[in-house]
Amino acid sequence: MKKRIDLRSDTVTEPTQEMRDTMYTAVVGDDVFGEDYTVAGLEALAAEMLGKEEGLFVASGTLGNLLAVLCHTRPGDEVMVEKKAHIYYFEGGMTAVAGVKPWITSSDKGIIRPDHLQSEMRGASGLKSNISLVCLENTHNLWGGTVSTAQETDAVCDFAKQNGMKVHLDGARLFNAAIALGVPAKELTRGSDSVMICLAKSLCAPVGSVLAGDADFIRKARGWRKILGGGMRQSGILAAAGEVALRTMVDRLAEDHDNAKLLGKELNCIPGIKVDESIIHTNLVYGLLDPSLATPGEFEMKLRQHDVHIFAASQTEVRFCTHKDVSRGQILEAVSIIKQVFGK
Ligand SMILES: *Cc1c(COP(=O)(O)O)cnc(C)c1O
Repeated sequence: MKKRIDLRSDTVTEPTQEMRDTMYTAVVGDDVFGEDYTVAGLEALAAEMLGKEEGLFVASGTLGNLLAVLCHTRPGDEVMVEKKAHIYYFEGGMTAVAGVKPWITSSDKGIIRPDHLQSEMRGASGLKSNISLVCLENTHNLWGGTVSTAQETDAVCDFAKQNGMKVHLDGARLFNAAIALGVPAKELTRGSDSVMICLAKSLCAPVGSVLAGDADFIRKARGWRKILGGGMRQSGILAAAGEVALRTMVDRLAEDHDNAKLLGKELNCIPGIKVDESIIHTNLVYGLLDPSLATPGEFEMKLRQHDVHIFAASQTEVRFCTHKDVSRGQILEAVSIIKQVFGK
């Protein structure tokens, strides 16, 4: 049987054999009692890699982002978010749970600069700004996996600090950014008050994210995690895989990035598909479809019949995501199937 080629997301990656073996033998305890040393080990490793005092293991990226908003704000505050940011576009917790108001800022393909924030500040008109938090995203998912450099991140963080605002970094794919830039992840987090990273995306762990920040922030986040039902017991079983993810799966991301560039280049040769190759820095590839070829929905459905899976991202675009479980050979195979199905 032909193996399915699943380019929908890096969340479909399966845990490695080493992850499975490590989970099987993990030493565990009750983490709500603070007795799971495997969880504590993962949190310490993540904090170290992210240059923060402490980490907190959480069930999902969405929960990590929500805890950060709850810790940094009070109900009624405003939170500066980019218009296509995951935390605003896909997550409801900011308004539904934390009771804050999103305050939209523009950006340059997901990369926010101080002047973007400056133009949204209301202080100049004499009205007091109520913005207490700025949320950044690196890499930026919906803008094509675009990468903010350490200097760009520092500049917005400095601006936020000068204006009395905290900064939370949604780093679901932060290690993709670090590998693309060739810098340690902690250079991309040094200005932010908190950061969330996903273990279950391109790093291939089965479950989980880590939220990191200073000790006082993590103490508060731990409290909110318990209130929201996110306290877990022998979660070292899961954290064990996360630890392997951080140790073994970061450096190989370069391979996914090479595959994404190859895929972008090949797709661009197919009439009716347009890819902006200049923004492919990491593992996401967006293709703009000519309506005469197919709608994104039709494109997704037709390819599914050939066991090639992609994601209709909008009314005009399809998204492809490269990851560990799709080889270079399968990328080329997917391209050849797309040519067969949609070639004229
Ligand atoms: C996937 C993702 C999240 C949420 O992570 P989940 O673990 O799916 O809840 C947050 N931010 C970005 C940018 C993401 O891509």
